[in-house]
Amino acid sequence: MLTESGTARPSSLPRKPDFAAALSECARLPCDNSVSRMLKLAQVPGLVNFGGGLPAPELFPMEDIARASRDVLERYGYRAVQYGMTEGWLPLREKIAAQTPGLSVDNVQITSGSQQALDLLGKILIDKGDTVLVESPTYMGALQSFHPYQPRYQALPTDEEGIDMDALEQVLEDLERRGQQAKFIYVIPNFQNPTGRTMSLERRYKLLELSLRYGVLILEDDPYGELYFERERLPHLYDLALAQLGDPEQVPVLYCSTFSKTLAPGLRDAWVQAATPIIQKLVQVKQGADMHSPTLNQMIVAELMDDVLPRQIVRLRGSYRERATHMLAAMSREFPADVTYTVPDGGMFLWVSLPGSIDTDAMLPRAVENGVAYMVGSAFFALEGGRNSLRLCFSNAGAADIDRGIAGLAAAIRDEQVC
Ligand code: PMP
Repeated sequence: MLTESGTARPSSLPRKPDFAAALSECARLPCDNSVSRMLKLAQVPGLVNFGGGLPAPELFPMEDIARASRDVLERYGYRAVQYGMTEGWLPLREKIAAQTPGLSVDNVQITSGSQQALDLLGKILIDKGDTVLVESPTYMGALQSFHPYQPRYQALPTDEEGIDMDALEQVLEDLERRGQQAKFIYVIPNFQNPTGRTMSLERRYKLLELSLRYGVLILEDDPYGELYFERERLPHLYDLALAQLGDPEQVPVLYCSTFSKTLAPGLRDAWVQAATPIIQKLVQVKQGADMHSPTLNQMIVAELMDDVLPRQIVRLRGSYRERATHMLAAMSREFPADVTYTVPDGGMFLWVSLPGSIDTDAMLPRAVENGVAYMVGSAFFALEGGRNSLRLCFSNAGAADIDRGIAGLAAAIRDEQVC
């Protein structure tokens, strides 16, 4: 458009969008890029990638998924692809509720992976500046989910039996003395990600006692609980609390689990079980997030729950136990004597601690040159720590790859020690 004097009006010039200025405060927060860095490095062909947390794809029950998918499409027709209830497909919620005596479907919300459960729970629970207690180290995906809601983290020291309960009691006491309260304690009691460790029964009771004494919620994240190798898993914190209190509405535990590790992660089917005021809020925010999780997938999972799932879990236990044993044997053969590591009795991960002088972030390119990738330990700390540690995933590599990968990693460690 021209002005009377015949010159172009500045406002008619197209303005370059300022994407950086458009971002919200929370989107501008710095974020950890360990995962994208690892994924980029892991593009090298032939690399043994112990970095990601991938289930073994060759063990996915593909035939059963194909059959269940045909069956439910035939049986339910358009209902499989029409909009559904935000709470989730009722028969699936009923089957999940039936696993815990005393639980009602009203205590169950289906989510798109437990990653979404962590995000939605963060959304309904965390105000900016709220204190959230996490294990040290903890699942970095949970930190990613909580991050936008801007909590203040208190990292709790852990050992072979889980959280140090004296330290937790001290933190809760200190907060109370200051007139504050933590919003929740986030904990992965079984075959923890990243350490592979399991919280002892004694500590489970103590954690529950502290939660009830100080009125703090527990967010129990349990994707790996069914993947035990020998000894059966210890009772869920949720179940201990329900047994003690007798009513799901009194239970201070918000329990999340998923079909990602037991069936297939691409189905994106998981759930939260909790008291109804929490479930009702989750329904509200899930409506805004994605309306509901894909109905067809929920139908498939409900179809597989009774017979395929238990068989599949037994198969995974055997196979992952074999892989973990193989990896541990390779590590004891190849690693220098001053390298220590956890010996998990389930799950998908183990945790390696190197001599303090080695920075696993700096070592990663050298490991990739040697044909192996891992997840750097520092990614799993809410505050600081883990620079000399790393996480290895044993579920997604066969024996030959494990041998090759561990040999490459051992060589990288020895090279770092010489430097
Ligand atoms: N919690 C933990 C501790 C995990 O390790 C994972 C997956 N890596 C998740 C939650 C998310 O799992 P999903 O969204 O596939 O159910």
